Amino acid sequence: MTLQTHPSSEGGLARGLSSPLQPFDIGHPSHIAVVEPDTAFWGLVRKDKLSEALAGGPLLDTYHAQADNFRREMEMLRFGLKPSAVYFNPTERCNLNCSYCYIPEPMRRSGQQMDQATVLDALERLHGYFRGHMPEGRLPQVIFHGAEPLLSRTAIFAGIEAYGDRFRFGLQTNATLLDESALSFLTERGVGVGLSLDGPNPGVADRTRRRWNGDGVFDHVVRALDRLDGYPGYNVICTMTEANLPHLTEMVEFLHARRVPAGMLNVTRCTLPRARGVRGDDDRVAKAYIAALERTHQLYRTSGRKLVVANFANILIAILAPTARRLMCDISPCGGGRSFFALAPDGDLFPCSEFIGLPAFSGGNLFRQPIEEILNAPAFRRVTGRRVEDVPGCDGCPIRHFCGSPCPAEAYEMNGGMGQKGAFCRFYEEQVRYALRLIADGRHEDFLWDGWDDGTVPSCAIGAA
Ligand code: SF4
Ligand code: SF4
Repeated sequence: MTLQTHPSSEGGLARGLSSPLQPFDIGHPSHIAVVEPDTAFWGLVRKDKLSEALAGGPLLDTYHAQADNFRREMEMLRFGLKPSAVYFNPTERCNLNCSYCYIPEPMRRSGQQMDQATVLDALERLHGYFRGHMPEGRLPQVIFHGAEPLLSRTAIFAGIEAYGDRFRFGLQTNATLLDESALSFLTERGVGVGLSLDGPNPGVADRTRRRWNGDGVFDHVVRALDRLDGYPGYNVICTMTEANLPHLTEMVEFLHARRVPAGMLNVTRCTLPRARGVRGDDDRVAKAYIAALERTHQLYRTSGRKLVVANFANILIAILAPTARRLMCDISPCGGGRSFFALAPDGDLFPCSEFIGLPAFSGGNLFRQPIEEILNAPAFRRVTGRRVEDVPGCDGCPIRHFCGSPCPAEAYEMNGGMGQKGAFCRFYEEQVRYALRLIADGRHEDFLWDGWDDGTVPSCAIGAA
């Protein structure tokens, strides 16, 4: 893959040509970004040299020299991938009633659940599918997801035991059922563990994540965090809502103090109406998020230890080296249905877990149809064919390939169709501005995993000072 970075330009000599590069103000005192939206080629130029840079010179020369390569890379990333992961939902049920959950309440109260034989049968079919196209030596990923997957603990642990050499396993859990023996089982087998926690104390965390009777679960999560201390394969997802925005900085301090290696600060997915009731306003979310990211930077500088905010690191990587990105929400088409898909407890396949409450997006059933056929079903093609350049308002946006206008499920449910924007346009814009400011100031590496660019080929070094 290529590092899609560029040195600052002092401008060029050739004038009078119409430039393919669009200026994008990043709120930096001395620099502005210029972007060619289709290839995601970008550069940082001094504001006083902008018109010269747009007219010609080294920046445009580099663009013209590399545009075809970048275009091909983007095309491959957007349309040439095959699935390498599955979000495996063994149960629709959950012992919590979180305020922004995308799974409808009747399903979470008393929905379907797979038994052990069904989990094993599903894994065998998935293995057969992935074996057909995954490169030798690379294992596909199965992430047990929910609702709460540990309600099917016996079945999924049998699956991990039987298929540990054929998949890389992960588990996303609310931590309430993560006892000592479950943690030993998972950590001894190198299973990735994702925990959900929305605040640094019960007063904040329990506002959004509660049992059906209203009791909070903060203490359970903290016990699990303490037990996982030192295990490299875990992370914490914090969903940003109106309820915790004033506490995000405290939240990253809390996670850093517990030596959590990576976290995510996710926007609320507004697919279901209830989630829209707790979503934060774009500008307030952006402000609190950037303040929290700045705090992670200070903590790194004073302690030498990083708390990587993975969803933000992914945006930086999307800018620096698009094909190295790891998460697939901030690109269009998004990863749903093309780099991964989701399995529901009745065997139906959906492009992403976010669609599981929307029956129109079931592409077919794993136990009755070949997976290749399901991935080509109209329900999947609606998602895999959603292109940001076709979305009104995004069609002229210079940063559309660093954003992708997520999420198609919420665009469909909340804004009247897949062809509309998702819920957080201004937040995504601010996030990209901040990422480019960090690059302009040479601070971006501090927000990334060490070794994030192993295997990348730099096209040129960043020299944006
Ligand atoms: S949602 Fe907003 S930031 Fe994202 S591509 Fe569309 S216009 Fe740009
Ligand atoms: S944008 Fe939405 S549908 Fe696509 S991968 Fe992300 S959550 Fe799933």
